[in-house]
Amino acid sequence: MSLIVQKYGGSSVGTPDRILNVARRILQAQRTGNQVVAVVSAMSGVTDNLIKLAGQVAPQPTEREMDVLLATGEQTTIALTAMAINGLGGRAVSLTGAQAGIVTDGVHTKAKIANITPRRIHTFLDARSIVIVAGFQGESLEGQITTLGRGGSDLTAIALAAAIKADLCQIFTDVDGVYTCDPRIVRNARKIPEISYDEMLEMASLGSKVMQARSVEFAKKFRVIFEVRSSFNDQPGTLVKEETAGMEKVVIRGVSVDRKQAKVTISHVPDKPGIASRIFSEIAAINVNVDMIVQNVSASGTTDISFTTLADELPKIEKHLGPIVEEIGAKGFSAQGGIAKLSVVGIGMRSHSGVAAKMFELLGKADINIQMISTSEIKISVIVDEARVDEGANIVHAGFGLNV
Ligand code: ADP
Ligand code: ASP
Ligand code: MG
Repeated sequence: MSLIVQKYGGSSVGTPDRILNVARRILQAQRTGNQVVAVVSAMSGVTDNLIKLAGQVAPQPTEREMDVLLATGEQTTIALTAMAINGLGGRAVSLTGAQAGIVTDGVHTKAKIANITPRRIHTFLDARSIVIVAGFQGESLEGQITTLGRGGSDLTAIALAAAIKADLCQIFTDVDGVYTCDPRIVRNARKIPEISYDEMLEMASLGSKVMQARSVEFAKKFRVIFEVRSSFNDQPGTLVKEETAGMEKVVIRGVSVDRKQAKVTISHVPDKPGIASRIFSEIAAINVNVDMIVQNVSASGTTDISFTTLADELPKIEKHLGPIVEEIGAKGFSAQGGIAKLSVVGIGMRSHSGVAAKMFELLGKADINIQMISTSEIKISVIVDEARVDEGANIVHAGFGLNV
């Protein structure tokens, strides 16, 4: 008998019919001789609606109450899924994150899992029950309800799989697996049969939100092999696992797009030691995450510094950057949204040269201007106009031979 953790995302449980479909799948997994723990997300759109509702009663909702509110989305789904299974003649019990023993730190809306005590889960499994666990939530040591950041049900599933030493961890979603690019952007994208943790982590962090990036980090750390597959068919999906020898032969595994980026440029910054540190420690102090940073060549003792961040951060930047700019003696700053990040990812880049040159050439030929560049061992990212990023993704995808 195997112990299986399955996770069903928002669109897989988006309607009563779909919940029934999930209930049948879970039952099927149990009837073929397995113990099943299923993690479910809020029904699609529910979390977004709850966030909207909160915004209608308070301009900046308190984070503790936000978590109490958001956790209700998953709580609805666990009850409905367990009811559906029971209605079909099976035996299931629903558990909230806290009931499932998921203990987190106290950082509301982006809590980290500290540990899991799956005692109750085992008790129910031993009694031949299916256990349905609410994704995306836990409880802090102080007894507060917490949530794990958007897409956090993936993390719940992977952390639970590690904690109960599951034989199999399956992430069911609305696509057949991880593709060479989001199939909504590149129609000719291909399903990837196997991908390394590092590539999946880069792709997720660079905008391929098929998996939550933190969940992939967790899987890598605890060596949880998992499969991403569809809840709407029985096609084999994508296996995410440790790198194997053959994987490096493929130069580019995938292309990622991250919209809603913003670029901030501080002009005529005095070119002196310690200034960059001053700027970025002030920005860190207002809790703005910075992504790429570019500093121009110095001209007559001053330089321009540009950085990118999420477009959502623009109001904060506009509110706080002025005094910092003045203090360091720079001339001024400009902040602009409407840009996006386009990236290619692959561990094969480590042993193949000319990847950046080829990407730039492909974009250049299409007259797509590159505003910023950043690279690491296994990725190259460029900032382009948001209006042209999908076109750029298709061109780069085809140019690297990834099309079906
Ligand atoms: P769930 O609700 O199941 O968690 P998500 O919406 O979070 O599902 O993730 C699935 C979506 O991820 C797909 O519908 C797809 O549009 C998007 N996606 C982005 N990048 C990729 C990729 N490289 N491969 C597959 N899907 C991707
Ligand atoms: N419901 C949460 C969200 O929409 C968590 C998840 O779906 O994984 O972000
Ligand atoms: Mg998701």
